[in-house]
Parts: sequence; structure tokens; C-alpha cells
Amino acid sequence: MSGTNGSAQKIAVLGSTGSIGQQTLDIVRSLPDKFRIVGLAAGENLALLEKQVQEFAPRLIYYQNSDNRLKASRSKFVPLEELATHPEVDIVVVATAGKSGLSSVLAAIQANKKIALANKETLVMAGQIIQAELKKSGARILPVDSEHSAIWQCLNGEMQKPERLILTASGGPFLRYSPAQLAEVTVAQALKHPSWQMGEKVTIDSATLMNKGLEVIEAHWLFDMPYEKIEVLIHPQSIIHSMIELADGSFKAQLSYPDMRLPIQYALSCPERLTNPTLPKLDWSKVSGLMFEGPNYELFPCLKLALEAGRLGRTFPAVLCAADEVAVNLFLREDIRFTDIARLVEKVLKQHQPVENPNLEDILTADQWARELALHFSGGDRLCQS
Ligand code: MG
Repeated sequence: MSGTNGSAQKIAVLGSTGSIGQQTLDIVRSLPDKFRIVGLAAGENLALLEKQVQEFAPRLIYYQNSDNRLKASRSKFVPLEELATHPEVDIVVVATAGKSGLSSVLAAIQANKKIALANKETLVMAGQIIQAELKKSGARILPVDSEHSAIWQCLNGEMQKPERLILTASGGPFLRYSPAQLAEVTVAQALKHPSWQMGEKVTIDSATLMNKGLEVIEAHWLFDMPYEKIEVLIHPQSIIHSMIELADGSFKAQLSYPDMRLPIQYALSCPERLTNPTLPKLDWSKVSGLMFEGPNYELFPCLKLALEAGRLGRTFPAVLCAADEVAVNLFLREDIRFTDIARLVEKVLKQHQPVENPNLEDILTADQWARELALHFSGGDRLCQS
């Protein structure tokens, strides 16, 4: 690398005002010779997008509410898919929440882009379709999710498939709660994650362990591993980000201080490792121990529901994602209790008539059906009586 901006990787960030989007911009800000922002896309936070546009001067921008034009911007407004496929873009960071990433990911695959994927719902909903599209294209998916980044880093240099993937989970803030305590959890408590700085949806999903279930499905598709070879292990310190077990009984793990900017940076720079003084370093003398235990499926039924939906396949994972997104939003609005999230998702899954070998339209139809049913179920007191 010459160190000039001309050799920098050109990056488009979809979801630039969210947690992962902002942390991606932190990495770009700290390594300006390596990365350059050419596109930014955001949903509704126009005030923050405006600041980001002033700082990074991207050529291309997209925002949801186009009646509200950004003032004094020289950036060109383009549709989201054009931003994800533009010839100037080397890497598309997909950091949008929920199902909104799906069409951009498919467009970026068809345009042979490198895709730094932080949106796990995309793979959970449509893993089969994404894998089929990847086979026809020169595109690559670079995982940003810390567990999948860890597994990917461990797999580098290995010639054989691993025997097992071990996804670690912090267990969230309610690891030692009783069922009675869990029913009384408030939104503020659920939004306080013990080790990771993340967006609201993923923080609530981490507290219910739904997040870990979605990550098992994500790992199944990313690494082509059968479900019986993917294990979940509670590790409250969040220092081991995941492990692989190899044929000879060796384990490889990736360890670091828990900071999302590290897996984001690795996705952008791989296979190169970059020195970045702004990333915190782990001080081993301050680590008093690394603890492990199996997950409690009774206390965290969302994990079990997600694993079942993954194994059942077809349109079940899309229904799981959609019902969970609705349930988490209802909980954040204090319309339902924390423990109702699992109840609501389970009720929707139970009603689902799956579609065999679903195409994209089948998946989007199942998604819409699940959202409507979840809202319908949450409308009255039926939910609380179940
Ligand atoms: Mg994760």
C-alpha cells in the first residue's frame, strides 16, 4: 500500500446512522489512508446523516424520506440498490436492521461486490437463495457478526472442514434471573448489555438469546455446516468470540476485547491485519477467569424456537425473524412483557404452513403473513392467557 488515498478501499455503508454503521465510520475515520467512504445510506435519522455527509463527503447518498432533502449536500441521491451496486464501490457494508438488507444484499451479489454483512436476518430469511446467487457470482460475504468473524478467522489456513463450530454467547443481562424476575424485566434493563455496544433490536435479541439462535442459522449458511455440528456455549466474559473444533481434537478460538469495531475492521481489511491505536487492547492481568456453561433453554425459549425453525427450514426461519421483529418492537414500546416475546413468536410459528423450496416472493409473503399475525395476536389479552 502506498499510503495514499488513491489506493484506499472504497466503501458504501448501508445503515450508516445505526450502531454498526457509526462504528464502521469510526474505523474509516481512524484509518483514512486505508478506507474511503463513497456512499452512505440511512433510514430516518437525517440529522446524523447530514453530519456524516459533511465529514465524509460521499459521492452517493440514499435516505428513506426523500421529501426531506438534505441541505447543502453535493452528494448525489441514488436509489439504495444503485448505491449497493455502483461501480465505484469496492465493499458494501450492510448494517441495516431487520429484513431491509435483503434486496441490497442480492443486488450487491449480482454486481460481484464484497459484502461486509452485519445484518443477520438476511441470511436467516433467505440463506438458500443467497448461497445459490453467490455460486453464480464473484461476490463474497465477509462476516461482521463477531462470532462469525471469529469462526472465519479460525478457519483461515485450515484445509479441512471443522468437526464442530462453537458459538459463544455472553448470556445477556438476565443469565441468573428466575422465571418470575424475567417476567418483570423493563425495557431499560433489557437494553443494558453487560459486554457489547449494539443497536436496540440486537440488544433485546441478546437478552432473550434469540440473537444466538439467529446466529446458529447464520453460521449454518455462512460455513455450510449442519445444525447438529453447531453448538451454543454461554461465556459471560465475551472474550472468546467463538471456536472451531478440528478433526484431531484441536480447538481454535479467536479472543479479544469485546468491541464490534474489530470484526468490522477485519471484514474491511482482510486478509491484512491493520494496527489501529483507537481499538482497546485486552489486558490479561485484569481477566480473572473465563467461564463456560450450557444454555438454559427453559429460561430462554427463544433460543430453542430459533434452533427448531432453523432445522425445519423452508419458510420457518423467515417467519421466526418477522415475528421476532414485531415482538421486539412491541416490547420496546412497552405493549408486551419481556417473556411475551417468546410466547408471541411461538404462537406465530405454530400457525405457519411452510412453503417447500421457497423463492424470494414466497419468503417475503411468509414474512408479511407473520408480521400481521404477530400484531393480531398481540392486539388483545389472548397473548397473556396462553
Ligand atoms: Mg453476534
